[in-house]
Amino acid sequence: MPPKDSLEYEVNLLRKLVAFNTDSETKANYAACADFIAKEARALGFRTEIVSAKAQDKKQRPNVLIYFDNKRKKDLLVVTHFDVVSAGSDWTRKPNELLRKGTKLSGLGAADDKAAIAVCLGALRDLRGKECGKNVKIVVGCDEEVGSEYGIKFLSERHPKKLGAHGCLVMDSKLSHIGIGCSGIVMGFIEFKGTAGHAAYAFRNPNIVHKLVPFLNDLKEYEKEREKAASVVAAPSFAPKKKIWGRFNITILKVGHKTNAIPGSAEIGFDIRALPEENIKAVMSGFKSFAIRLLKKHGLKGIISMTGSNGYFVPKNNGFVKEIAECVKSIIGRKAELAGELGATDGRFIARLGIPTVGFGPGGSNPHSAQESITLKEIRLSKRVLMKLIRG
Ligand SMILES: [Zn+2]
Repeated sequence: MPPKDSLEYEVNLLRKLVAFNTDSETKANYAACADFIAKEARALGFRTEIVSAKAQDKKQRPNVLIYFDNKRKKDLLVVTHFDVVSAGSDWTRKPNELLRKGTKLSGLGAADDKAAIAVCLGALRDLRGKECGKNVKIVVGCDEEVGSEYGIKFLSERHPKKLGAHGCLVMDSKLSHIGIGCSGIVMGFIEFKGTAGHAAYAFRNPNIVHKLVPFLNDLKEYEKEREKAASVVAAPSFAPKKKIWGRFNITILKVGHKTNAIPGSAEIGFDIRALPEENIKAVMSGFKSFAIRLLKKHGLKGIISMTGSNGYFVPKNNGFVKEIAECVKSIIGRKAELAGELGATDGRFIARLGIPTVGFGPGGSNPHSAQESITLKEIRLSKRVLMKLIRG
């Protein structure tokens, strides 16, 4: 075991990374932050590349690639991201200032996912000139918090060769378990057209709200239908079920604006979570038949639209899964739990390339809130696991 690392380099780097407001909505500082990361990696002696996507909104979408070539046959891909969710109104201090209290570091993006970038560069810095069993490619992507369209999804679709690897670690997760897959996701809407009118004369304009209430009551029953689906992949131990299960939620209701007006239109939004192994197109068509039947039953005309993406999973006995599980066990000192993620992760874009992909580290607490933080211990553990994986 190496002497206890002060992590001075990682903490200083994290402070500089947090200082960039890499808000995924405005994207104002994407280019500056990407340039800073590439420059930092080059100063350590590593080759870098910035691969940018041309986005419709003309805003910059740089993705940083860092290469640690050890002339080995095996390549390890590590995926992180530099963008953050916009600071909400719950911040009572400057979100882009890293605050250190004892061993706890707080700030916007301190955990998700800038600690991972600091961990990666710290690990590479310590491994320079040492015997390593793998070449390493680190991706520091953009737009993860808004669906990765111009981030890792873009790289996987347009530059798959750059991501080629024998295994991929998505460092945008927890230390509590090794993520061996993730759920699929469907985002959908049902739009309704009614006839707008005055509430005093509703006999002329059938009230769409009154039709929607019983329809929604029936639609929420789809949750039970979805819950029948059980995965072969274990759920994390904090979940209420042992295996990943199907989920359905009505998440948006938009209708009406005045108490005395019968609304002329309505919109329902919903979210479906599929099993890692499910075909998302089949899930979408299953929902569509269910919804169409209900629309007919309630005499409603609704236009259903959906977009979705498949989840994925890696079998527990996969060599890469075993290797990372051994690394985690030897560093953390306990057998690592192997589970699929309840959410959708960037791993799904890499898994499509046929690369065994797992999620682990850097840890942290309360991401996407003013309480976001990470501890030195979490940074140290993630770094040691990563270093062991690179060396082995
Ligand atoms: Zn993240």
